[in-house]
Amino acid sequence: MLSPEEVRVAAKRKEKENLRFRTFLKNRVNPDDLDRKFHALHKELFADYDCCQCGNCCRAYSTILEHDEIKMIATHMNMSEESFADAYLTDCAEGLELKAPCAFLGDDGKCAIQECKPEECRGFPYTDRPDRWSSLYSILEFAEHCPVVYEMLERLKDIYRFRR
Ligand code: SF4
Ligand code: SF4
Repeated sequence: MLSPEEVRVAAKRKEKENLRFRTFLKNRVNPDDLDRKFHALHKELFADYDCCQCGNCCRAYSTILEHDEIKMIATHMNMSEESFADAYLTDCAEGLELKAPCAFLGDDGKCAIQECKPEECRGFPYTDRPDRWSSLYSILEFAEHCPVVYEMLERLKDIYRFRR
């Protein structure tokens, strides 16, 4: 597995190859079979990986919050929703999102609001969700930040005997 510091450069180097691999998956692979393989790799690779040594997703992406999440986190921090929003949130097309890099990522790599961590953060990189076949562009983009997703793509290339 690549280190969190190495993954961006490595993924950039593989950009063209990964786009070819996406086309290969789109044209040659059964979507249900692809989901089964993604889900198995997600389970295997995250079981052995401590995300606290990485945190790249918390630095790279803004997290959209539902209203009940804003309420819950503000309460957890003993803040009014308004002052919480002023301090930590920014407007986006879908509503309000945490600014990136996330202020709740600690130096130890832990999330300071673990008890009420937003759903979007819990689910990242979503490789155990259905219909990954329709989300391959996102997955290629995640591979620029997430060492586990990068590794998943490399393993899938071997599994499907993709010619690099
Ligand atoms: S809320 Fe926690 S898990 Fe979500 S981006 Fe911030 S530090 Fe990461
Ligand atoms: S989900 Fe991926 S990018 Fe996020 S902390 Fe874990 S390994 Fe890093």
